[in-house]
Amino acid sequence: MGRLSKDKRDVFYRRAKESGYRARSAYKLLQIDAEFNLFNASDKNESGLRVRRAVDLCAAPGSWSQVLSDKLITEEYNEEDGPCIVAVDLQMMASLGPGVECIQGDITSVTTAESIIKHFKGEKAELVICDGAPDVTGLHDIDEYVQGQLLLSAINITTHVLCEGGSFVAKIFRGRDVGLLYTQLRLMFKKVSVAKPSSSRNSSIEAFVVCQGFDSKFSNLPLEGGFDSKLSGVGSFRETDEDDIIPSIVPFLACGDLTGYKVPEGPKPKRKKVDKQSHDEECCSVNVVKYES
Ligand code: SAM
Repeated sequence: MGRLSKDKRDVFYRRAKESGYRARSAYKLLQIDAEFNLFNASDKNESGLRVRRAVDLCAAPGSWSQVLSDKLITEEYNEEDGPCIVAVDLQMMASLGPGVECIQGDITSVTTAESIIKHFKGEKAELVICDGAPDVTGLHDIDEYVQGQLLLSAINITTHVLCEGGSFVAKIFRGRDVGLLYTQLRLMFKKVSVAKPSSSRNSSIEAFVVCQGFDSKFSNLPLEGGFDSKLSGVGSFRETDEDDIIPSIVPFLACGDLTGYKVPEGPKPKRKKVDKQSHDEECCSVNVVKYES
């Protein structure tokens, strides 16, 4: 069966179309939010922070930014001091409406990182999200390595823009070294969890780290190699012996609604249409693995 017909059978593909989302991966973020209450602008989240500024790294075609915009940009929005979302991707994105600034650039380049940081004019964001995925080569080790580099760049940028207590959500591939990544993230954040959409293909190693409670002593790591150098006591992300990994008890929690995500009642939201882009979304309810110190 071809890819198109497979997509068309997918409930989240259809619901994304019905709800005007640019990609069905919108539901991944919605369901992570349902579990972690990350960026609800009206209620307080677990860190006690009201999200007013957010960064969406690797944002195209823009469905995660649409979710952010729905959550943060309310009717009282004003340009002067309203909520602010910065969406960044290698690819150009169609406008995401008021309050969402689109930057075209490579997040692994220092220039892009600097323009994201500059955008905040010294203010900090309460949330950074990253759904980055490089073009896959099919060579497993290379794909995992490139994804790791993307994640390191996202973390380095995050240390410049995230406020004390802020949250970071990022796509990961659960490969060989993922235990070390969790351990290092736990140094920087009070709480680190892993959410895995349950309808993800069994063959997919995609999951999302949900990191809450940023410790600002890790702010402003050098943009090149910063993550490694600051955490040298624990060893670098890629070059540490397995013996260096601090063992953690890993509670496993399955949660989420297996019936899928309901289309909101009422008229379909009016959103701009964009050109069709390829994306590898698998949306669904979530299984959560928690790592707590
Ligand atoms: N979250 C998005 C959404 O909901 O619409 C989907 C993101 S898509 C799965 C992955 C994106 O990562 C692609 O648009 C790709 O261009 C972007 N990407 C990959 N490498 C990148 C890099 N080095 N810098 C910026 N964006 C990158």
